[in-house]
Amino acid sequence: MSNIYFDSENNSKSFELPGARPHYNPDRPGQVEHIFLDLELDIPHKSFHGTCTITLNPVRSSIDKLTLDAVDLEINSVKINDTEQTFDYDGNELNIYLQPVTTTGQKIQVAIAYSSNNPQRGLYFTTPDKHYPDKPTQVWTQGEDEDSRYWFPCFDYPGQLSTSEIRVKVPHKFIAISNGELIHTEESGEDKIYHWMQRQVHPTYLMTLAVGKFAEIQDEWNGIPVTYYVEKKRQDDARRTMGKTPQMIEFFSQEFGYKYPYPKYAQVCVNDFIFGGMENTSTTLLTDRCLLDERAALDNYNSESLVAHELAHQWFGDLIVTKHWSHAWIKEGMATYSEVLWTEHEYGQDDAAYYLLKEARSYIAEDKGRYRRPIVTNVYREAIELYDRHLYEKGGCVYHMIKTELGAELFTKAIHNFVQSNAHKTVETIDLLRAIEQATGRNLLSLFDQYVFRGGHPDYKVNYAWDGNSKLAKITVTQILAKNDKKGDVSKELFDLKIPIAFGYVKDEKPELINFSVRVHEQEQTFYFPLSEKPKFISFDVGNNYLKTVKLEYPLAELKAQLQFDPDPTSRIYAAEALVKKGGLEVVKVLSKALIDEPFWGVRVEVAKQLGKIKLDQVFDGLAVGLQDEDARVRRAVVEALTQIKTNESYKLLKSVVKNGDASYYVEASAVSGIGDIAATNTKSEQKKAIKLLKWVLKEKQGWNEVLRCGAISSLSKMKTSETALKLILKYTAPGVPQPLRLNAIRVLGTISTAQSPVNLERILQRLTELSRETFFLTQVSVVAALSQMETAEAIGILQSLADQTPDGRVRRRAEEAVQKVQKNIGSDKALKQLRDELDKMKKENQELRSRLENLEAKAKAS
Ligand SMILES: [Zn+2]
Repeated sequence: MSNIYFDSENNSKSFELPGARPHYNPDRPGQVEHIFLDLELDIPHKSFHGTCTITLNPVRSSIDKLTLDAVDLEINSVKINDTEQTFDYDGNELNIYLQPVTTTGQKIQVAIAYSSNNPQRGLYFTTPDKHYPDKPTQVWTQGEDEDSRYWFPCFDYPGQLSTSEIRVKVPHKFIAISNGELIHTEESGEDKIYHWMQRQVHPTYLMTLAVGKFAEIQDEWNGIPVTYYVEKKRQDDARRTMGKTPQMIEFFSQEFGYKYPYPKYAQVCVNDFIFGGMENTSTTLLTDRCLLDERAALDNYNSESLVAHELAHQWFGDLIVTKHWSHAWIKEGMATYSEVLWTEHEYGQDDAAYYLLKEARSYIAEDKGRYRRPIVTNVYREAIELYDRHLYEKGGCVYHMIKTELGAELFTKAIHNFVQSNAHKTVETIDLLRAIEQATGRNLLSLFDQYVFRGGHPDYKVNYAWDGNSKLAKITVTQILAKNDKKGDVSKELFDLKIPIAFGYVKDEKPELINFSVRVHEQEQTFYFPLSEKPKFISFDVGNNYLKTVKLEYPLAELKAQLQFDPDPTSRIYAAEALVKKGGLEVVKVLSKALIDEPFWGVRVEVAKQLGKIKLDQVFDGLAVGLQDEDARVRRAVVEALTQIKTNESYKLLKSVVKNGDASYYVEASAVSGIGDIAATNTKSEQKKAIKLLKWVLKEKQGWNEVLRCGAISSLSKMKTSETALKLILKYTAPGVPQPLRLNAIRVLGTISTAQSPVNLERILQRLTELSRETFFLTQVSVVAALSQMETAEAIGILQSLADQTPDGRVRRRAEEAVQKVQKNIGSDKALKQLRDELDKMKKENQELRSRLENLEAKAKAS
């Protein structure tokens, strides 16, 4: 599963919320061998009925009761081998009292006739309504993690694998797609019956059904059909977005040492999908928002990563199933790491290194701002809470560290062994360790203990000095401990790793490295390296393969050389970060030069970002050149950095990007968004002009996923004191506004709320209260995101009632974390925030002064 399409910040410190408890798989009455759903859909009434037949091979005799998961269904009858059974049903669990009781090895067929009316989860109907008359009529499912029970009765946990079969009757004009092979179709009056068969075992959460008026685009790999299903008008976008799928199937078949295991691979793009994608066995569902038009394809690589992620799950997740949610990192970590592997294959090593760095950062932000937890834990309230940055991004980084420890060749051997020996089975983390040990002889338990079974990562500080007399390089490595770590047993919090360190020399403009390796395991260690001459730069953790944070405290000259010559792009990025901490015109010069000379776009992006952090007017000239960069991703970073420096020149430049446009949606959208950021620090009349420009964007720039108009809405929200801006935003929260634009308008109500008049604050709260009653998952997530930023106790009330009423565990969790955040906002933070605003103003004045001072100093030095 992938949830890249929504994200919000939070600040609670414990992963385990009140009510969290250990979770275990239930006892097993027997092996489920087959599940057969025979369904008839009534799409206009958002209902369906049919029979679910489960073939069970009892594990022991004398079982007299079966308990199945089944939520909010209507159970009409239960039969076993054609004999009516007594049962009771409380809307949550279905208890069947077996008559006769089981006999070991004697299979039974449990046939449950049932119906469902307007299901809230599991199976979703999207239909046009008065606000959205053009919305396509579709039916789709989402089972992970424990939602299949909302559309059929089952033993709903991933420890049970079985074959499955879905026969479904739909009106003639629709296509119905499901797992496995289409074994039969049949006309039946106005309707058509589709009969799908999944002959390889899989868990209930991967059973799926998607129904719609789709265009069907055929591709193939090795004789296996590869099909893309999209709305009819999106056929070109479909090829553009998913067209690399056959190459990816080939790549992952090789990479995992196991030929793609299913008779087909389908990807169905559906409307209003609540995740980025879902890897149902042989039939992935994707959000239709991932479909790229020609312009979006220029610099959107997320969709390609999404396609790779869900495809990799066909092995990691579907072929090899995690036995319990607590081990879900095995699949999510690998699917996330597969994005890196595919990036390396398709775009090269530098791109892959940068991709990995961004994954690491995404986890580190969660660890810092939200909570720290072991990747593997069974203590939670609902399994869905585990689907966070620890599970995905940190899990991905762990796979990369396994590769680092083993080396590429042994890593491949270990992964092949893991896949081959566990295909069509369930696994836990221990099975991965065993497969590695079996294939390579290496025991990686120590790595897992540090990164998987406990929370955190090392935070290093590295100091360097050169002793010219004895020709010794002195490196001091400190592990910085978090405040609360210091109280406990420090040795438990420290990491024990072998870290490679290299010293770099430059011959004929080319770097040469001398490599060492040290064991870093104490809170502070000093290492001495005898060298024949003074190195130009130092590379700590060569290749940057270990998940960590690092502060480089090297002299200016070494950092400059590292930025220019270190072969590893991540090291060059760290050098740029360390340079900015030093500040000054010299650093502006060095970075401005790097923005032009640096060969890799990812480093240029980071250099632009770092330039934006330097509070000197002189940064402008260096940055402005970057707008000519041929890579749109760099131009976007430049625009964002120009937004940070908030000068008149930067405002004018952003305005020209908005007016003249850019080849990339994202560059243009960032400029639109930056306009409000800078205008917010200017006078009222200047804000008025900015609003006029944004109004023009809102009127003229509708289009792909509403990226540009979303930029305008975000832009407006930065002008927190403006009533006109608020009124405009409120207008776009109305039903009928295109979904992505509306969701963004809802989210930014929080941003703009903090400096509005009491009357306007009341209007915002009123609107959010109304919106919180809408049941659509993404609307609720946006409402929570907005409320979490507010600074009034009334927000807490709305959040609490949302938490009480929502059927969704993710919304509930977000809402509860938001309550804590608002409490913090209205506490001492409010005074602090006012101070911070004052400080921002002073900083701006200071920036002008310091910029002039730097110029004077530079002149003085020159003369
Ligand atoms: Zn996933």
